[in-house]
Amino acid sequence: MAEVYHSACPLNCWDSCGFNVTVEDGKVTKVEGDPEHPITKGKICGRGRMLEQRANSDTRLLYPLKKINGKFERISWEAALDEIAATMKQNKEKYGSASILHSHDYANGGLPVQP
Ligand code: SF4
Repeated sequence: MAEVYHSACPLNCWDSCGFNVTVEDGKVTKVEGDPEHPITKGKICGRGRMLEQRANSDTRLLYPLKKINGKFERISWEAALDEIAATMKQNKEKYGSASILHSHDYANGGLPVQP
């Protein structure tokens, strides 16, 4: 049986468009704009609409991989998160807070770096 969930776009665009996501038998089958969202009012872009295909892609990564000696090897979530946290902490201490801001692509164009 299909169920529709209210959600929001997870992409790196700060519009955070409201979604209605249809799920059937545990699988996302449709991503549409939520017409009840007070700001985006059902409008979403092509990237947001493509998330149904992205969620169901055979090539979607489902677990962390680490490049070791030129090859990607599966590691645990705990090991991945510990390593990422340690690297972020090290970079923040060495280069400042702006060095760990994850921001790329279009939409907001990235935050300006504070002097
Ligand atoms: S404009 Fe597109 S990418 Fe940005 S939040 Fe909306 S659906 Fe997502």
